[in-house]
Amino acid sequence: MTANSITRRKFIKQGIVGTLAVAPITLTHGCAGAKLDLKKEMADLDENPATRAKNQSYMDAYDFDNCLECGECLQGCIYKDLTEDQAIENIKKMREGDVAVCEEMLDQCVFCYNCNYRCPVDANPAALMFERLRDRREREGSVPSSLRYAINGMENKGWGYNLFRDLYTDHSEEEEEIIAGWSEPKDCGDGDLLWCSCAGRVFPYDIEHSHVLADLKKFGGKSDCCGLAAFRSGLFDVGRFLTNNLIDRLSECKFNRLVVMCGSCQDMFQLAMPEYFGQEFPFKIISVYQYLDEQIQNGKLAIKRQVPVDERQDACIFHSCFGHKFGDEYLACIKRLYEGVGFDCVELEHHGEDNACCGMGGFYRSGSLWDILEVKGVKKEDLKKSEKENIVAYCYGCFTISRLFQGGTTHFLLEKLLWALGDEIKYPMSGILGRSMNFSNLWHMTKISPSALF
Ligand code: SF4
Ligand code: SF4
Repeated sequence: MTANSITRRKFIKQGIVGTLAVAPITLTHGCAGAKLDLKKEMADLDENPATRAKNQSYMDAYDFDNCLECGECLQGCIYKDLTEDQAIENIKKMREGDVAVCEEMLDQCVFCYNCNYRCPVDANPAALMFERLRDRREREGSVPSSLRYAINGMENKGWGYNLFRDLYTDHSEEEEEIIAGWSEPKDCGDGDLLWCSCAGRVFPYDIEHSHVLADLKKFGGKSDCCGLAAFRSGLFDVGRFLTNNLIDRLSECKFNRLVVMCGSCQDMFQLAMPEYFGQEFPFKIISVYQYLDEQIQNGKLAIKRQVPVDERQDACIFHSCFGHKFGDEYLACIKRLYEGVGFDCVELEHHGEDNACCGMGGFYRSGSLWDILEVKGVKKEDLKKSEKENIVAYCYGCFTISRLFQGGTTHFLLEKLLWALGDEIKYPMSGILGRSMNFSNLWHMTKISPSALF
């Protein structure tokens, strides 16, 4: 029994759909190429059918019967150039599972969910896109090694190595100790728990020693992962498996609210898990930005310094794919914090319901680096039009992709904010490239390069 008596089974409130309805996904892993049957693993985890999560595939979140086949979801997509007739024809064929059309549409998709805003009957067309991506994964027969490399938390299932484990390789002894401490279950009583994500663990020192975050106990071991990268790559079962593992781990902790450092994790907890896995939680989820904003509003924290004037007036806001989905209150909070730090950020041309992807969404199609380069083009054009030198991102992924591929000077809002509130930052996120320059990372990069490049 856990400290707060929250077990994973209690997290899973829905009924079931009987036995698993779709064919098991088999995933080639490890050097020996053995097969892993995640469906069976999931069934073993949830041996009682009455407590299994409700949804068994992305398709369960798509309102197939009420779709009007109007094509508005595809026609308004900024990554496609379709006439009304083509959009209607293509959505019909996607619904039928026509492989040629599905492949063409998938190659023009970044899995941003923005088509949902255009659907007149709230049918959730993004779920159809994800289901067709899942079909692609099934056709491939095994998960491309570059995609596998981006997914943390599957080591004990034979996937062996991944980007995050490699980024953790160069941790100092003190950083190792910090992560070991974060890995332990926490009793926060009625307080909040800070969930430290895969990305947040790359530089744990400043989070651990932060005066600003001192009231929060920190949690997140090396392999604890929300599963978003798997979920957005069409690997429904891997995503659900990782999610279940994380729920098991969280169930060992006692807390009131889960404060989430990473937008992708918040997306997963707050939106994707309920909508796609039928998963609900008996606790509130807020982002670290909402937590800090709250602390500033109630006077517990105060801005002590701001960015220089030349940065302030020459900056644009780099929205992530989840920003608009979290709603107006979240965006208002983000903007207050930007201004609090001193940035006078302008909006880029594509934002809100038409927000452009940083590039990472392209990677989920097939694990190709070239797809990142292609997809980032819309944002790059927006940045060029803005004529702003300073790019301010609030998402770890957006920060990293922008820093690597977009030019200009990219800042990470969380880091700027901690600094503005009085913390000293010893290991800035801008050092992430340097941290990846270790033998393990470079060796594994050469191993996945055929999948990432060809
Ligand atoms: S998920 Fe995004 S990129 Fe894909 S079809 Fe919908 S709007 Fe277009
Ligand atoms: S999913 Fe919605 S927008 Fe797309 S064709 Fe169906 S009704 Fe139209």
